[in-house]
Amino acid sequence: MYQKMSERKFLKYMQTKIIKVETGHTGIAEAADVIRRGGLAAFPTETVYGLGADALNPQAAKKIYTAKGRPSDNPLIVHIAEWEDLFTVAREVPGEAKRLADAFWPGPLTMVMKKNERIPCETTGGLDTVAVRMPNHPAALSLIRQSGCPIAAPSANTSGRPSPTEAAHVVADLSGKIPVILDGGPVGIGIESTIIDLTEKTPVILRPGYITKEMLSQTLGRKVVIDSAVVAPDSGKIPKAPGMKYRHYAPRADLIVVTGERQKVVSKINELTDKNHADGRRTGVIATDETKHFYRADQIVSIGARADEDAIARHLYRILRDFDRGDTQIIYSESFATPRIGQAIMNRLLKAAGNHEIIVS
Ligand code: AMP
Ligand code: MG
Repeated sequence: MYQKMSERKFLKYMQTKIIKVETGHTGIAEAADVIRRGGLAAFPTETVYGLGADALNPQAAKKIYTAKGRPSDNPLIVHIAEWEDLFTVAREVPGEAKRLADAFWPGPLTMVMKKNERIPCETTGGLDTVAVRMPNHPAALSLIRQSGCPIAAPSANTSGRPSPTEAAHVVADLSGKIPVILDGGPVGIGIESTIIDLTEKTPVILRPGYITKEMLSQTLGRKVVIDSAVVAPDSGKIPKAPGMKYRHYAPRADLIVVTGERQKVVSKINELTDKNHADGRRTGVIATDETKHFYRADQIVSIGARADEDAIARHLYRILRDFDRGDTQIIYSESFATPRIGQAIMNRLLKAAGNHEIIVS
């Protein structure tokens, strides 16, 4: 019995090779070879690191779910390198897809359309639609081209954990479970792509991201809506992107978001910190450059300058992961409903907090 269990464990373990990449580096060819043979390779994109497999191979797609511990109804995003590749994965390519691609591809926009019969159900979590994106990262594009197939890739983290924004995060979650990780350094954007569903009468944003509703509706010259289950996560409605219904990004400590006027937020967090200290609990704060000096918590981390939305997005997941290394039991975070990508940032932050928010007025 013991023998069998340890054997199984041994068989499952595989040596993970970490390859630093620059465009044209031979390491990309090695990862492409793994993908062509039906294996998995993690790779950098401009949003977060992806865990890739041949999107046309059902057995390969299945391996992604096993490595991540991902629920099988949560579909994968298919990554392509050329516009023409879209016709390999989609049955119908709406005219609006071309306009959005011209404006935003390669880039952090994923479009949902009807799937082609070549895309197996394993890739789409059983749906008859497929989510497609062309990433804006030279290593990702080169990997797709050299693999010679569209690459199905969700974020390269263990299911439920924050998405990886550096190769070290992928190593922490997937080392021993996948054969190769391409290390392209820290990513540029740091939160996942915007997902827009083009199969409805009115285009629907299923997941907010770097490309905003305003940018999309301006390009299309018509109304674009956001999935109501995403706008009001406590409404009991079921999100249209299956992945949006799962708890995500959560650090091990309890995370509570505190929203309101800056001075009041600082006072509230300090008041809560004092209470926790009296009970012997270690607290942390996700602050900004402007406020970090005003807190009394044990671990205070600045996410960046409040006006620098891009930095806030880029640092969020690393900060959530870093808290897991310490012994902080309760984390308070300021709110970041910034003008442009604030909705995307708050969507991730509130998800990480299990929607636990204190509003101070
Ligand atoms: P990840 O790449 O890990 O961020 O996960 C992909 C996200 O895309 C998940 O939230 C999925 O539910 C969503 N997604 C992928 N394919 C589809 C689809 N065909 N329809 C709706 N959502 C999708
Ligand atoms: Mg993910």
